[in-house]
Amino acid sequence: MKRKSEISILIIYTGGTIGMVQDPETGSLVPIDFRHISDHVPELRRSGYQLHSVSFDPVKDSSNVDPGVWIKIAEIIEDRYNDFDGFVILHGTDTMAYSASALSFMLENLSKPVIFTGSQLPIGLLRTDGRDNLITAIEIAAAAGSSGPAVPEVCIYFDNKLTRGNRTTKMSAEHFDAFSSPNYPPLAQVGLHLNYFDNLIRHSTIASDLTVYKTFDTNVAILKLFPGINRNLVQAIINTQGLRGLIVETFGSGNAPTYKWFLDDLIDFNDKGGIILNVTQCHGGSVEMGLYETSRQMMLAGVVSGKDITSEASVTKLMHLLGRYKSKEEVVEGLKISIAGEIS
Ligand code: ASP
Repeated sequence: MKRKSEISILIIYTGGTIGMVQDPETGSLVPIDFRHISDHVPELRRSGYQLHSVSFDPVKDSSNVDPGVWIKIAEIIEDRYNDFDGFVILHGTDTMAYSASALSFMLENLSKPVIFTGSQLPIGLLRTDGRDNLITAIEIAAAAGSSGPAVPEVCIYFDNKLTRGNRTTKMSAEHFDAFSSPNYPPLAQVGLHLNYFDNLIRHSTIASDLTVYKTFDTNVAILKLFPGINRNLVQAIINTQGLRGLIVETFGSGNAPTYKWFLDDLIDFNDKGGIILNVTQCHGGSVEMGLYETSRQMMLAGVVSGKDITSEASVTKLMHLLGRYKSKEEVVEGLKISIAGEIS
């Protein structure tokens, strides 16, 4: 086992509230460089680990994060994979769950920790949550288990909770406890000690090298159902030029109206080669197609069950699979299986 001083961690700073300051002209929060963060966390110098950092330029509010940013993060990890024991990604909370999901699909055979964190309050404020989040994320990225790193997965660490990235969703814009993982338990108990639940953590079983997938197809849409939805809206989305994948955010356990026009439109899209994924609007629980007549009809229309996937993981997985495979069959097969622990 390595000594503490031999463990090296790369901190990748992409932006987000953690490094933001108030713009004197507009009064709005804008991100600035990593030095600003490290100046406010002098504890980093006493961590005992070899800490290195790389910063995006310009840094971003995470509302501006897109697949190009995911590819950039993945490329930094790929280039430095052999030089570091773990990676900490500082990222805005707004789209952190999307980025963590995307990275989990891109990094195949990952055998090192990739821990996303950030904060609700900027690091310069006295009550910031950023200091603890950053320090503990580094501890987690550096932690050793019985046979290698304790958590060789893409995770989110936030407010004393370590969760699998592609199972996590942002649920509060107010509380320090901003994220939840409704369909999968936390990967560690974080208190005085960090206790990892090894039976819940994914360990790559294939002794292959890291493979990084860098192609996304953004020709996807999310159609969130609501009572009273009208055909013009559904058709406007379905007829979007170039659309290849449609996520229907359904009610309860995957139910949708049985209006004839609605099912006809889905069948039409499916017959033209489109892929439809059924994801529930509920935060917890799973799609169970066929449980009710209102979902059996969708099954007959060729809709694929998203099971208990989050909205964030569903859209990033669909973009990833459409970028990775040419044929509809391969994409559909990929949607049905767990690639990185995103469905039960
Ligand atoms: N708007 C910020 C961002 O996502 C919010 C945050 O970091 O908490 O970049």
